[in-house]
Amino acid sequence: MITNRTFTMLKPDSVSKGNIGAILEKINASGFKIVAMKLTQLSREDAEKFYAVHKELPFFDKLVTFMTSGPIVAAILEKENAVEDFRLLIGATNPDDAVEGTIRKSFATSVTENAVHGSDSDENAALESEFHFSKNEIFG
Ligand code: ATP
Ligand code: MG
Repeated sequence: MITNRTFTMLKPDSVSKGNIGAILEKINASGFKIVAMKLTQLSREDAEKFYAVHKELPFFDKLVTFMTSGPIVAAILEKENAVEDFRLLIGATNPDDAVEGTIRKSFATSVTENAVHGSDSDENAALESEFHFSKNEIFG
């Protein structure tokens, strides 16, 4: 299992609004090192697989449609306590509930268009990283 690493996506809203640079700056300033990164677009199949835990929930179709609507930036980040610290940095799922200074407070506009994804456990960080990157695309 990968330790001290988390997986993130800058979601389609972040890419289309030109917020990639500002968000990456915040990530770097918070002590995370980027060990893998790519601009890519999820297929419907990819997004349904990635968010499979939510497939019975009412917002699933909206979520998949949004996540496949344009390119995303996928990245693996390294820092001590990466999963937990990154969740603190991104803030609450709904930007209305996100604390001042968090990425979602600054860049998200709704619970769907909420700027970034962050893994919720070391186990999921490893699975999500493997889903998006092959071994020779991960550095460090
Ligand atoms: P993510 O997994 O994208 O980092 P999260 O862990 O904060 O977000 P989850 O509960 O895993 O939140 O939900 C995944 C995504 O589904 C959210 O980022 C959001 O875009 C969407 N979502 C969650 N709850 C709702 C809701 N009540 N209504 C609409 N969309 C929702
Ligand atoms: Mg989640």
